[in-house]
Amino acid sequence: MCGAGANRGKRCRAPRTVARSGGVLLVETFPAGPLLCNCTVLACADTKDAIVIDPGGETRRIAEMVLHYDLKVRAIIHTHAHIDHVYCTDDVKRQHGGEICLHRGDLFLYDGFHQQCAVFGLARRGVSPVDRWLEHGDRVALGKHAVEVIHTPGHTPGSISFEVVDGARTILFVGDTLFRRSVGRTDLPGGDTGMLHRSIRERLYTRNPGAVVVPGHGPSTTLGEELKGNPYVRP
Ligand SMILES: [Zn+2]
Ligand SMILES: [Zn+2]
Repeated sequence: MCGAGANRGKRCRAPRTVARSGGVLLVETFPAGPLLCNCTVLACADTKDAIVIDPGGETRRIAEMVLHYDLKVRAIIHTHAHIDHVYCTDDVKRQHGGEICLHRGDLFLYDGFHQQCAVFGLARRGVSPVDRWLEHGDRVALGKHAVEVIHTPGHTPGSISFEVVDGARTILFVGDTLFRRSVGRTDLPGGDTGMLHRSIRERLYTRNPGAVVVPGHGPSTTLGEELKGNPYVRP
C-alpha cells in the first residue's frame, strides 16, 4: 500500500543503510514483509536504547541486530497502520518489549488488523494493544537522542513522520506520505489528497532541505531533491 502514480506497481529498490554519524546513532533500514515496507532500527550507540520503525516483517533480522548490538528496544513506532507497516509489531513486542506507539487517527486501521490481513491474503497474526498515542510535536526518547513526531495526514488520517537529528545529519522517516519523485496514494479508506499535499508542503517541505528522506517503500531521497523534482507536490 504505497505510492501514487510512478511508484505504484514498481518493484521497490531496497535501500540498506548502516551508518554511524559522530559514532552515536545507529541507523539500519531494510525492506521487510510481503509488501517490502522499509523497516528501520534506530539505536543510540552510547546507551544501546533502540526504536523499531514499521516492523512489517524481518523479525529474525531485528532479533539478530538486538543481540549483536545488545540493544534495548524502548519503542515500536509506526508511520501509519496499514498492514504492511504493522504486520509483525506483535512479534517484536513479545520478543523485545518496547511501547507500541501509533497516532490515534489510525486506530480504525489497527482495529481492522485481521480484516486487512484477509484483504491482502496474509496469514492472521497476533495483535498487541497500543501503549502510547503519539501526537504532533511529541518526542520519543532514544537514549541521548529523541525522535520528533510530525503529524502528516493524507495517506491515512493518522499518518505521521519522524525526524531524528544526529549532529549535522537529519533523517526523516515519512512512511507512505512522500516517496522519491512520488507521493502516497489517497484512494484507500481515510485517504485525502488535499490533506496529503498540505502535509507535504507545510510540514515536510518546510524542514531542512538537506534532510535524508526514508519513505515507507523504495529508495531514499532528500528533501532538497523533492523540493526541486517531485512532480506531484510543488513547494
Ligand atoms: Zn506501505
Ligand atoms: Zn500505507
